[in-house]
Amino acid sequence: MLLAGVRRRMSVRIQKSIQNIPGRRKSQEDAEGDEVEYGPIRYVPHSLSSLTQTTKFTKEELKSMYRTFKNECPSGVVYEDTFKSIYSQFFPSGDSNMYAHYLFNAFDDNQEGYICFEDFVMSLSSLLRGKFEEKLQWIFKLYDINHDGFITKEEMQDIVKSVYSLTGSEDDESSPVYSYMEHANRVFRKLDQNNDGYVTYPEFVEACSRDPTVVASLKVFETAF
Ligand code: CA
Ligand code: CA
Repeated sequence: MLLAGVRRRMSVRIQKSIQNIPGRRKSQEDAEGDEVEYGPIRYVPHSLSSLTQTTKFTKEELKSMYRTFKNECPSGVVYEDTFKSIYSQFFPSGDSNMYAHYLFNAFDDNQEGYICFEDFVMSLSSLLRGKFEEKLQWIFKLYDINHDGFITKEEMQDIVKSVYSLTGSEDDESSPVYSYMEHANRVFRKLDQNNDGYVTYPEFVEACSRDPTVVASLKVFETAF
């Protein structure tokens, strides 16, 4: 899965960026009891046990995931620029910038500007082990770009366009990016059941539960995940 690749490639870049951070704090102990050094923004989960309550992973799985995360992201966090730069390596023929931005936005649930281990495992838990509605919640969060609780037609168009852009350029007339608007509008019509220009979460769940083709249309992004 792409995320694994993303995690693998984070290591060197983040290590380099940490070396350039002035005023590093003294070392502390992380959730595994290992001593690690922190930059000015350093986030480490206090207890993996609490994550067994909030995710669908076992403590052993979380330990293993955290060890990998810590090893590959020594600062404990991933910033958007790094995320984008890593992501772009997977789509050399297209423009992944916007899609990576929206993905980052959905992972960074509390809008802090970085993804920490909790953000990462919470999203993975929903996407990999979540029930149908949990997956829908995550997809809704991705599409509701400004996190105001509604998906507008513009937000739908922006996400769909960013997905289409992964594999094609807007400058190329044969590129599928040209049909993104039609795709976005078609899906939006199915979701916005009272036709008021806003897709609420209940409308979203109702439409997705009733018509599997809607979910299939939304999950276009999974091809890039
Ligand atoms: Ca919105
Ligand atoms: Ca509506």
